[in-house]
Amino acid sequence: MTDLIAEMTQPRVDGALPGPGSAAYLARQARTESNARSYPRGLPIAIERGQGSFVRDVDGNVFIDFLAGAGVLSLGHNHPELVRAMVEQLGSLTHALDFPTPAKDAFVEAQLSMLPPAMRSRTRIHFCGPTGANAVDAAIKLCKTATGRGDIVSFQGGFHGASHAAMAVTGLVSQKQPVANGMPGVHFLPYSSCARCPLGLRPDTCETNCATYFENALRDPNGGLPKPAAVIMELVQGEGGVVPARPEFVRRVRAVTAELDIPLIVDEVQTGCGRTGTWFAFEQYGITPDVVVASKALSGVGSPVAVIFYDERLDVWSPGAHTGTFRGNQLAFAAGTEAVRIVRRDNVLGNVVARGEQVADRLAALTAHPLVREVRGVGLMWGIELLDAPDGTPASALAASVRTEVLNHGLILELGGRDDTVVRLLPPLNVTAEVLDTACDILIAAITGLPHRERG
Ligand code: PMP
Repeated sequence: MTDLIAEMTQPRVDGALPGPGSAAYLARQARTESNARSYPRGLPIAIERGQGSFVRDVDGNVFIDFLAGAGVLSLGHNHPELVRAMVEQLGSLTHALDFPTPAKDAFVEAQLSMLPPAMRSRTRIHFCGPTGANAVDAAIKLCKTATGRGDIVSFQGGFHGASHAAMAVTGLVSQKQPVANGMPGVHFLPYSSCARCPLGLRPDTCETNCATYFENALRDPNGGLPKPAAVIMELVQGEGGVVPARPEFVRRVRAVTAELDIPLIVDEVQTGCGRTGTWFAFEQYGITPDVVVASKALSGVGSPVAVIFYDERLDVWSPGAHTGTFRGNQLAFAAGTEAVRIVRRDNVLGNVVARGEQVADRLAALTAHPLVREVRGVGLMWGIELLDAPDGTPASALAASVRTEVLNHGLILELGGRDDTVVRLLPPLNVTAEVLDTACDILIAAITGLPHRERG
């Protein structure tokens, strides 16, 4: 065991992927699991073991894992102190519905302690079914109940989950098109997505007109939009291709929603728990949301848990308004409390900022590459958007070839954004400078090695 752990300090791929062991697992999976399975299609490996920023497949190939459970594994795979906390908890209590327990009490304390001081005393927590989508559903239900209104405003390019309601407020048309009768009353407005400005503006003509559009849409008595129960937004669109919102856009969205008494739900499922360099991304925007949705990295180790934090004035719910059998995952609580302690002790947020600067430095050279539209990110959430072909063909195949090429060299990356044209990095937040450098080397080599095409 010790030898195997010692081995997982650098990537190593022997032979073609998938290796024979992975190929057998993938074939069995294809025979038994649903056609909706997704990640192993682009990343054809069967994973046997994880350790820190690395995973090893069943054939012994070792990869740097910058998918990290889609942003879940903030302290990497199997962080030994989180494992210890869970093992200790395992011996005493694992499941307790929504009863108070020592593990839950400590988790709540730890989570509240990470909120800005002014929010702490006004914040209520609700434990949801342990997925981001369930917590998004809860946030929508809460705001509908509290306001008595039925409409929701969301943003183009946003992703909020795959349940019926979360999918309804998600921009991804291909996912919802086959499913008739989605949640009604959802309206999509333009996001400050400057690389692909939805209003057709350029940096020199932009006056954050998306914010003006938003303000008008909510204020215009002839605008066709009834006053919504909530506005839901990501501050950095993750699945949408790593698009950080412009600060002015966010401030104006917050200002007009506050003025019109419309609750603002900030979906921090991906950006939360340190991903952007502050515990929550909203702190960097200088706003106070009414509802914060958090899930993925709350336990730090992939044990599922999801919550909404919300202002106490919205707490109009009746007992049992949002139930769920798996709301009391004591293992996740034990790990999550420990994760907060480690984040503080090891200055993990400082590492996110420093490593984020390192990524920015290393990837800066790619911005001038003829096949790159934009390199963008914040903290340890980065995307390289590739340039569509001059005839308008999306750069999807190009991005997929980068994903394959880096995998062949021992780096796991996923895609996102419009037509999957953005290569994304979501490393563990405690990743070392050395591992990050190795990953950047692999990524830069893959992009610079792409067949040359002139900038369109
Ligand atoms: N919101 C955001 C911002 C997300 O990135 C995701 C998942 N990628 C979700 C919600 C849904 O979370 P889950 O898959 O746990 O339902």
